[in-house]
Amino acid sequence: MALTISPCRKVCTWDRTGETYDGLALFACAGCGTEWVRSEPWTPREWDGGVPAAVRAERAAGAADNADS
Ligand SMILES: [Zn+2]
Repeated sequence: MALTISPCRKVCTWDRTGETYDGLALFACAGCGTEWVRSEPWTPREWDGGVPAAVRAERAAGAADNADS
């Protein structure tokens, strides 16, 4: 199983799916179907170029995990 990644467009909005991928919270774009977890090297963007709040929170959680190890 691999993540689905498509070019994000004007209709793109990101949120948690409530599912997990590889043990991490799975996010998905409602506009193009792209999927993301925080272990990915890139960061999802909304159609307006902003980073979704839920994604920022997930990145912060990942940074906390790294600090513990
Ligand atoms: Zn998208």
